[in-house]
Amino acid sequence: MTDKPKSHGRLSISASLQPRDLMGARPRLKGAWTARIVTLFPEAFPGTLGLSLTGKALDQGLWALETIDLRPFGEGRHKNVDDTPAGGGAGMVLRADVVGAALDTAAIGTPADPARWPVVYLSPRGRPLDQGMAHRFAQAEGITLLCGRFEGVDERVLEEYGVEEVSLGDFVLTGGEIAAQALIDATVRLIPRVLGNQASTEEESFSDGLLEHPQYTRPAVWKGRTIPDILLSGHHAKIADWRRAMAERLTKKRRPDLWRAYCERHGRDPDGDQEL
Ligand code: SAH
Repeated sequence: MTDKPKSHGRLSISASLQPRDLMGARPRLKGAWTARIVTLFPEAFPGTLGLSLTGKALDQGLWALETIDLRPFGEGRHKNVDDTPAGGGAGMVLRADVVGAALDTAAIGTPADPARWPVVYLSPRGRPLDQGMAHRFAQAEGITLLCGRFEGVDERVLEEYGVEEVSLGDFVLTGGEIAAQALIDATVRLIPRVLGNQASTEEESFSDGLLEHPQYTRPAVWKGRTIPDILLSGHHAKIADWRRAMAERLTKKRRPDLWRAYCERHGRDPDGDQEL
């Protein structure tokens, strides 16, 4: 993870075009879910993914991370990866030939079927990332993630490689690296054994299309605020009912879109009363 930063100056003539395995000395379990990341900034990884549960799982080889530095695929002495937009306008665009060559390298040894190995470009124009997508990605053998920079990538490369575009949300980031980390985090926590307590993914937000109920812990009274009595009652069935009712109330209020979909699935009237 702490490889020497590469110099992109005159002396860097031997940069490897092979994916760099960020595992280092880490073991890799056979068939471990693998994220291959094409980026101008490999040093951004594993970033926060190296911490806590995702980091521990990475160390244990439950999933793997490989970066492919886009720079060595660049053109000429300066390894240029971008050029001015056709038709004019501000900024620079990542070249199709450069990105294409990096994607060819990323494809080595991966299945061509996008269900088994999706190829994703992080992009504000993409479908917004959601829990359903994270489940789909977790079921694949791995994923290739293309991180854009500047004004993005030449459209032809997206067409040629059948790239799926995924967005982190309706805002514009400076590059795809943070979005890639968010996608990987949401995905690897669904891989068995990555989270110590498997039950926690079944109860949390979106697992049944609802936002999660409020959570409390000690102290029992804080700044005069108490914990709802029911949670201290020890009555598990009533606690479960309360949590579901709170999740429904919260979802109806904050996310009418999720609420309508939930009601449709459960044959409920979205304008009806909650059961509490
Ligand atoms: N000109 C582009 C934005 C480029 S931002 C446009 O208007 O659509 C530079 C890079 O940041 C993009 O190529 C993409 O990889 C990444 N990025 C920016 N916003 C993002 C978002 N909401 N979700 C995922 N990736 C994003």
